[in-house]
Amino acid sequence: MTTTESSPLRLGEATVAEFAAGLRGTAITPGDDSYDPDRAIWNGAHDRHPALIARCAGVADVIRTVDLARSEGLPLAVRGGGHSIPGFSTVDGGIVLDLSPMRGIQVDPDRRVAIAQAGCTWKDLDAESQQFALAVTGGLVSSTGIAGFTTGGGIGWLMRKYGLASDNLIGADVVTADGQFVHASADENPDLFWGLRGGGGNFGVVTSFEYRLHDVGPAVLSGLVFYPADEAEQVLAGYRQACAAAPDELTTLVNMTTAPPVPFLPESVHGTPIIGVGGCWSGDPDDGEAATAPFRSLGTVIADIFAVHPYAGWQQALDPLYPRGIYNYFRSAFLRSADATSLRVLQDSFATLPNTLTEIHLQHLGGAVGRVPADATAFALRDQEFIVNIVARTPTADGFAAAVDWARAVTSGLGQDAGTYVNFTGESNQALVRASYPPDTYRRLVELKNEYDPTNLFRLNQNIVPST
Ligand SMILES: Cc1cc2nc3c(=O)[nH]c(=O)nc-3n(C[C@H](O)[C@H](O)[C@H](O)COP(=O)(O)OP(=O)(O)OC[C@H]3O[C@@H](n4cnc5c(N)ncnc54)[C@H](O)[C@@H]3O)c2cc1C
Repeated sequence: MTTTESSPLRLGEATVAEFAAGLRGTAITPGDDSYDPDRAIWNGAHDRHPALIARCAGVADVIRTVDLARSEGLPLAVRGGGHSIPGFSTVDGGIVLDLSPMRGIQVDPDRRVAIAQAGCTWKDLDAESQQFALAVTGGLVSSTGIAGFTTGGGIGWLMRKYGLASDNLIGADVVTADGQFVHASADENPDLFWGLRGGGGNFGVVTSFEYRLHDVGPAVLSGLVFYPADEAEQVLAGYRQACAAAPDELTTLVNMTTAPPVPFLPESVHGTPIIGVGGCWSGDPDDGEAATAPFRSLGTVIADIFAVHPYAGWQQALDPLYPRGIYNYFRSAFLRSADATSLRVLQDSFATLPNTLTEIHLQHLGGAVGRVPADATAFALRDQEFIVNIVARTPTADGFAAAVDWARAVTSGLGQDAGTYVNFTGESNQALVRASYPPDTYRRLVELKNEYDPTNLFRLNQNIVPST
């Protein structure tokens, strides 16, 4: 996988000392006590050794760090929540700009707006917004950072009703490659604002995000229902049919996985292939039973744990299944419609899962996601009804290459035309970046890159290569 770069350049001690003295946050270098924990990211497959980790306390620190990377000619890795699958938020021999100390959040319940600093995770933002029974579409695992998630698009349980996280972005503060601090919104720098909603971290370091919030919960009908693996054909076909009639308040996914040893599943299925269908009903919980019923009767029910849960709790329910530090590779494919051929590929791939940690997710899009005009944001593959996310994982390096090969084969089997989603792309590969955008969108992204980052300082991302 060509996901990293390392730098032959070195940072001099005097340069680091001068930089550290002016920082409100902390400068961490090799040999410091916290160097090893601070250089680690969520995906254990990327073990890299930065020359400097700048743990930024505010915008001034961010500007200083961007200026340092530019003036020293060193590669710069920008880190929000550190959940990049290809390992973009760390770098060998370069500078990590770590935003994780910046976690301030202000919710204005009257205006239904939240301003969140870029180091926040979804757990942080959900906690503050749910205090007022408000929310914006967040990740399925609460430790994911709002920054990479939102700038890449942001698919979550509320999306069919309220759109992607990025569809709810109403403003952002950004430090650009030349160290300028600018605001982006529909009225100010609208071109940059367009690019920040799906174009990833290509155009600058976002220091804070302003989101539109919606009435959600605090309790939502949500959960999972489990079916036997040998009913995959029936469950997948039934799922497609149920999705066609699903109201926007309901967002669902299928997870073809291996039964974890959890008390709500019979011991007899632990460690064996199983199909989970998960969902979140964001409307009145009383109306949710009828809406979710078609998804809860797709086959022989092994367990049904749909119930009314606190929204913030449901947002954290899957966290234990996605632990930090193991080896991960994701691969995605949008499906305009889950036709019989695609479902057959998924079913056959499920039968050949390379290990018990690896999963295939089929997630229903549509609803509010599909109603946003394709040219309104850089996230433009809006006419796709489903997205497949292949989650290939191994506890260590052992067997990882085989799992990656298997994942690549699954998306190849789904067809060369299938678009990809930058946030579910586990490697840095120009062909996959191009497959994430329609040609006109990609052209516009290159123009924006030429304007905001012509030297490609921000290149550790699903990179839009400038043409200048
Ligand atoms: C366990 C898990 C669950 C996930 N679930 C979902 C899901 O439900 N839906 C979904 O859509 N995606 C999901 N993802 C994918 C996730 O959206 C991406 O991995 C996302 O990039 C993570 O953002 P981060 O800030 O945590 O990552 P980081 O590793 O910090 O950053 C990821 C990328 O964003 C850039 N970046 C980070 N901060 C900034 C900033 N402030 N300004 C500009 N660029 C920045 C980085 O340079 C890097 O290129 C999941 C990932 C994981 C690991």
